[in-house]
Amino acid sequence: MHLGRFPRLLIDSHAHLDSERYAEDREAMLRRAWQAGVGAVLAIGIGEGPAEMHQALEICRQFNGQPDMPRLYASAGIYPHNTPEADAAALAKLDSLLQEPEVIACGEIGLDYYHEGAPHAVQLEGLERQLKIAAARKRPILIHCRPKDGATDAWDDLFGILEERWRPTGLGGVMHCFGGGWEQARSSLDMGFLISFAGNITYPKAQPLRDVAVRLPLDGMLVETDAPWLAPVPQRGKRNEPAWVARTAETLARLKGLEAQEIAAATTKNFFRLFGLRADVGN
Ligand SMILES: [Zn+2]
Repeated sequence: MHLGRFPRLLIDSHAHLDSERYAEDREAMLRRAWQAGVGAVLAIGIGEGPAEMHQALEICRQFNGQPDMPRLYASAGIYPHNTPEADAAALAKLDSLLQEPEVIACGEIGLDYYHEGAPHAVQLEGLERQLKIAAARKRPILIHCRPKDGATDAWDDLFGILEERWRPTGLGGVMHCFGGGWEQARSSLDMGFLISFAGNITYPKAQPLRDVAVRLPLDGMLVETDAPWLAPVPQRGKRNEPAWVARTAETLARLKGLEAQEIAAATTKNFFRLFGLRADVGN
């Protein structure tokens, strides 16, 4: 199918649709996304821990097939600070979720050295175990990587593991809510990853991130909301939602001297290519 036929070209590549902050208006929120030109959303399946990993898939199944709604996909994974719960049962649950056709990615997984939480060694082991499962189920990964302020510690550890355990799979993935510098962006592209920009690219202090975006080739980027967090300017501080991914696309367009439609078309094409999906949006 030719993408040009679809007026709704934006894809929100990362939203926590299972958040209880959408309990009252989830359906209306998804309809607003459709109205705003969002043709598909990847619902992140981490919940508040492995016990809730299936919730994103359930939301996909609840809404897919309904008219005037974005097409929904799901992921499943154990977030870095939930890795102390990555026992045999949780990993078996992950493995079975990754076999479902709607569950197109494993994540968000990775390393978070910024917040206090799971010890680094536990995070590293949890990541490695999930990489093994994702590789066996041939699912690209969604990476959360956050170093300590002013450091690259988490990136350095991450690339060490990915180089050895993920590059050989050729499956690639997404650097979600990218916050690294140009060096990390280049290493990511080199390993077959896409760089996903969230609403924080609109924040005044995010000039280093905007500098990365200016240099990044169009075929290496995605857009996301990370909703309900990180609402873009001018909604900063409010509950975020997929409709607002348009702000991030507009910001990228301005930075690159392009039309917002060109950013939408490129990021949507990149999404379908990474996940090996038929280019189709909506229901
Ligand atoms: Zn997230």
